[in-house]
Amino acid sequence: MTCKEFLALLDDLIDDTVTPEMRVELEKHLGKCGHCEVIFNTTRKTIEIYRSHEIYQLPSGLRERLHAAIMARCKKGC
Ligand SMILES: [Zn+2]
Repeated sequence: MTCKEFLALLDDLIDDTVTPEMRVELEKHLGKCGHCEVIFNTTRKTIEIYRSHEIYQLPSGLRERLHAAIMARCKKGC
């Protein structure tokens, strides 16, 4: 799995709508890619903060900005 593939499934992983097989693949990538691990944790925390404030609608562009951030990191490091 590449960072791009991971990124495409990141939202589903956080929403817990991935299949068990996919989850294994995603966790494998997280285990070896520190960049994606940081983004995954950051994204999950951000979404949890919004949910804990009962703001279920994420600001438009937030996910896109997070996605852009991971791709910028991965270009340098992965
Ligand atoms: Zn990665």
